[in-house]
Amino acid sequence: MNKRVLITGAAGFLGSHLCDRFIKEGCHVIGMDNLITGDIRNIEHLFPLEAFEFYHHDVSKFVHVPGELDYILHFASPASPIDYLKMPIQTLKVGSLGTHNLLGLARVKNARFMIASTSEVYGDPLVHPQNEDYWGNVNPIGPRGVYDEAKRFQEAITMAYHTYHNLDIRIVRIFNTYGPRMRLNDGRVLPAFFTQALKGEGLTVFGDGSQTRSFCYVDDLVEGIYRLLHTKYHHPVNIGNPSEITIRTFAEEIMALVGNPDAKVVYKDLPVDDPKQRQPDITLAKQLLGWEPKYDRSTGLKKTFGYFKDRVLNS
Ligand code: UDP
Repeated sequence: MNKRVLITGAAGFLGSHLCDRFIKEGCHVIGMDNLITGDIRNIEHLFPLEAFEFYHHDVSKFVHVPGELDYILHFASPASPIDYLKMPIQTLKVGSLGTHNLLGLARVKNARFMIASTSEVYGDPLVHPQNEDYWGNVNPIGPRGVYDEAKRFQEAITMAYHTYHNLDIRIVRIFNTYGPRMRLNDGRVLPAFFTQALKGEGLTVFGDGSQTRSFCYVDDLVEGIYRLLHTKYHHPVNIGNPSEITIRTFAEEIMALVGNPDAKVVYKDLPVDDPKQRQPDITLAKQLLGWEPKYDRSTGLKKTFGYFKDRVLNS
C-alpha cells in the first residue's frame, strides 16, 4: 500500500517542495492550505495527478481527513517576519491550535507526526553556532515573539503528545532556506534582494548589514527532512547549511550574479530583535541522518536566479 501523507502548508514554499518529493517517492499526498500566504501556483502542476488531493482549509479549525494517514507533516505557518507582523494572531493560532488539532488527528490515525520548527526558537542566540541543546534567547512580547513562541509551544505540545500519548514524533529545526517558489514580496532577504537587483533598485540592507545568516538550498533541506522522517529520533534536529555570511556580503553576491549596473545597496533601519548571527550546528544531522548540504551558495543561488528572473520580468 502506498503511504498516505498529509502536508499542511502545501501551497507554501517548503510545503510544495515536500509535496513533490513525497509524490516522487510513490506516496499519496493530501495537501492542505488556507492560502493566506501560500500560492496555489506552487502546486497546480500536481492537480492532474491521482496521487494528489488538495483541501482548502485552515488547520486552526477542526481538521477532518477521511481514510488512513501514515504521516502528518505540519508545515503551515506565516514564516517571514513581514507576514507574521501582518498576521500575528493567525501565526499564534496555526502554531498552537493548529498543532493541537493535527496532533489529535495523528492520534486517531496512528500517524507519525512531524513539525516544522525553526532556528527562531533560538531567538537572538548567545551561543554560536546553535546546537540543539541551546534553549534560546527569545523576547516573548517583541514583534517576532508571535512566531518564536508559537514554534516553541509547538515543540512543547508535540513532545507532550510523545511523552504522554506515545505519539511517534519528529521535530525539524529549519534554518534560513531559499530556492524557487519563494514569494517575491514576502519581505525575506533573498526575494527582496533578487527582486531589487533585477529591477535595478536599491538592495535594502537593514542595519549596517553585519548581521549574519546561513542559507540552505531547498533541495538539501527536503532531503534532510525526508531522512529525518524515516529515522527513529524524537528530539529536535537542526537542518540547514552552516556556511555563514553577512547580509551585506550577501547583497554583493546577489548583485554580482544578477549583473544589473543600476542595482546598489541602500541602508534601512534594523528591525527590532533582528538576530545578530545565526549558524546551524549540524553535527547531529550528520551523525543521525548521514546528511549534509550538497549545494554551496553559489550553485544554489544560480539555480534560484532563473525562477526570480521569470517571476519579476512577468509580474
Ligand atoms: N534583511 C535585509 N533586507 C531586507 C530583508 C531582510 O537586510 O530587505 C535582513 C534582516 O534584517 C535579517 C536578514 O536579512 O537580518 C534575514 O532576514 P529574513 O527576513 O530573510 O529572515 P530572518 O531574519 O527570519 O532570518
